[in-house]
Amino acid sequence: MRRLLAILFQRCPRCLKGKLFRGLFRVNRECAVCELELQREPGYYLGAMYFSYGFGVVAVAPVTWLLIENDATLFTIAWVTAAELVLLSPLLFRYARVLWLHFDQLFRPQ
Ligand SMILES: [Zn+2]
Repeated sequence: MRRLLAILFQRCPRCLKGKLFRGLFRVNRECAVCELELQREPGYYLGAMYFSYGFGVVAVAPVTWLLIENDATLFTIAWVTAAELVLLSPLLFRYARVLWLHFDQLFRPQ
């Protein structure tokens, strides 16, 4: 339960207290509470792309399905989907990284 709350509030995967972000898209270099290094190696957040892709599909699928059911044109579906992804990108970006950090901490603890 504490881990789920830490994920929800975007906190450190080790101490579950320190903030992970210092801006909309900037991850801290290390946790301010337990000093966990949040950038373990170059390209570390490549794994977050898997989570981001999954979130993106889940986020746009209901609206896309609704548009298809209402006989929207391919052009409309493409633009609505793109707009939805642009609007949701801060959330997708942040939670993809948060989940990646927690996932990595569980399987490769530091
Ligand atoms: Zn920490």
